[in-house]
Amino acid sequence: MVASTNKAYILLSGGQDSFVCLIWALQHFSEVEAISIAYNQRHAKEIEYAKKIAAHFNVPHFTYDIGSFMSSIAESSLLNSSSHNTQHAQASHLPASFVPNRNGLFLTIIANHAFKQETKHIHLVTGTCETDYSGYPDCRDNYIKAKATELSLGLDISVSIHTPLMWKTKAETFAMAHEAGKLNELIQLTLTCYNGEETMHPWGYGCGECPSCVLRKKGYEEFLHLTYTV
Ligand SMILES: [Zn+2]
Repeated sequence: MVASTNKAYILLSGGQDSFVCLIWALQHFSEVEAISIAYNQRHAKEIEYAKKIAAHFNVPHFTYDIGSFMSSIAESSLLNSSSHNTQHAQASHLPASFVPNRNGLFLTIIANHAFKQETKHIHLVTGTCETDYSGYPDCRDNYIKAKATELSLGLDISVSIHTPLMWKTKAETFAMAHEAGKLNELIQLTLTCYNGEETMHPWGYGCGECPSCVLRKKGYEEFLHLTYTV
């Protein structure tokens, strides 16, 4: 297969951050493929949102299902009916919604997906963020840099992991969509809620109460303030 060095592979969850990353990827690469991972998450509806987003932007979309594997190996409030607003069952310094090494697994999967097509350089894109993040250690910049090195060594091919949101606040993420003329699509096409609730608010769909909704609502309100004060 012919190598294409200007192609990116994006981890698309159906949420706000990966939506904005997709806009970024389409601005920086001539070709983009989107990959979603079904991991038996409570908010499984996000996969349907990811499909809608990919179709909206006319981007090829692939889903890999690791649901039974994740349910058997991982403990997280995203995988069962326990509360999100408490500490993690195994690690009291981490939130209940932490899925151990989720980003590491997902990046390995999309790197393997890309490896089927690329021979020289793999470009991966993910919406991990260290600024307004949820306290997950595998969202941090040092982890992502180490992961790129690990994948490059493991596949014997150069792997870059692009994280356009790493140092952005949630308000700045809304601003990126706004500047690209895609704010309305962001509100309509994404689902970030940990409970998968589809009640519409000015900031998008959600329950309004889970940690993810609280972060998104706060970010939207700060974005409006940014917009008004510019
Ligand atoms: Zn919610």
